Amino acid sequence: LLRRGLRGNFVPPIRSNGGSTGNVANSRNSGRGDDLLEDSTRRCMEMLCGSDGELPEKLRNLEPRLIEHISNEIMDKDPNVRWDDIAGLEHAKKCVTEMVVWPLLRPDLFRGCRSPGRGLLLFGPPGTGKTMVGKAIAGESKATFFYISASSLTSKWIGEGEKLVRALFGVASCRQPAVIFVDEIDSLLSQRKSDGEHESSRRLKTQFLIEMEGFDSGNEQILLIGATNRPQELDEAARRRLTKRLYIPLPSSDARAWIIQNLLDKDGLFKLGKEDIASICKLTDGYSGSDMKNLVKDASMGPLREAMRKGCEITKLRKEDMRVVNVQDFEDALQEVRPSVSPNELDTYEDWNKQFGSLS
Ligand code: ADP
Repeated sequence: LLRRGLRGNFVPPIRSNGGSTGNVANSRNSGRGDDLLEDSTRRCMEMLCGSDGELPEKLRNLEPRLIEHISNEIMDKDPNVRWDDIAGLEHAKKCVTEMVVWPLLRPDLFRGCRSPGRGLLLFGPPGTGKTMVGKAIAGESKATFFYISASSLTSKWIGEGEKLVRALFGVASCRQPAVIFVDEIDSLLSQRKSDGEHESSRRLKTQFLIEMEGFDSGNEQILLIGATNRPQELDEAARRRLTKRLYIPLPSSDARAWIIQNLLDKDGLFKLGKEDIASICKLTDGYSGSDMKNLVKDASMGPLREAMRKGCEITKLRKEDMRVVNVQDFEDALQEVRPSVSPNELDTYEDWNKQFGSLS
């Protein structure tokens, strides 16, 4: 039944695109349609078939290799991040739980006045946990998570971005509830290019907005999350569709302490007391979450470097002879790992937040 479903409904790309190259079935076999699809592609298509063994309507005219790419590279069936993994960001967690997680878990309660927005923007400096929040939303709401970087659509998928976008939304609608996370969304929906804008990127943007419009008006359980470090580049149309806009700021001192503690607990390489951690937090004002991670990594090299300086050979070094990581290692690491966000940039985010952010 399954094979007949695929064969019966699938429009062989050789017909729809005039036999252009690039399709798995065509390029390998110059053949006719799904009989000659590669095994991996076929398995992927089969997984998307409904209980009747038919490929859903939305996927029938899409190229199998794009569907396969979405399923293998972009779809994350188990995002494996929970709120508890994320330091700080209490405001964002609260907003997002109400706006997104509850509606995905209880769609019946969120109709009419309560019907949720379908577009969420997470903005703020790089490395502050925007991607983690996206994954946690999917994890907490048991939704399928799709991650795509908008800049890869414009660079890696030149000329094919539109098709990939169609395939992305198509597969997502077969995998509801779904969360589509678009990183660097500014490069897709930016206002900068208008005049000299390339025809292809304009088409890509249009296609993207059409797809968003489509699920916004329907009953689909799809949420689009855009993340950006450059919110000021988004145009009015993008802002309108991303109705909730949450600022994801640098971690507070408490959140930084939490990140250090959490990483240390995992490794058991450290013996730092509360006071040690507090003094490291004082020295790391302005560090992002990922800066903190890099700092801990660098500090953890301290004992190893010291042993090498004393003439030890790496092949002979015994773990039990190494000392634990201390505050001095962190002080040394602070010289290597500098904060990646400047105070000027922070002002830009705060201003944009005041003007366009969801403050409540
Ligand atoms: P963004 O999407 O904002 O650029 P990510 O979510 O990709 O940042 O975070 C990069 C890494 O930095 C994460 O994998 C995590 O290790 C660390 N990190 C950043 N922010 C936090 C946070 N709030 N809590 C815990 N870890 C964080």
